[in-house]
Amino acid sequence: MNNPQTIPSPSPNSFPCNECSAGMMHLRHITYFTWLGEELVMVPHFPAWICDMCGKREFDERAIAWLTMLLSPNAGKPTRRLKRAPRPGTAKRNLPRPPID
Ligand SMILES: [Zn+2]
Repeated sequence: MNNPQTIPSPSPNSFPCNECSAGMMHLRHITYFTWLGEELVMVPHFPAWICDMCGKREFDERAIAWLTMLLSPNAGKPTRRLKRAPRPGTAKRNLPRPPID
């Protein structure tokens, strides 16, 4: 099991930048700032991909997802979305209709 308090570290393979297509995106660990309501949250050693040519920053998707989950007050709670029972007969709508001429 992974420790949920640990930022998931992406594989450190660099890849070509899609912004300038001349530089390479390298994995760096920077301090990430985000607002949580009116509170500024600082996340040190946050993994980010930074281009060595144009300086474009891209954050790791998994790390962002981890952070969102950690900061979200509803994280881990079951969603209260009501499940609608499929109405009988609605499935028939998806059947191709015979051509009407
Ligand atoms: Zn670039």
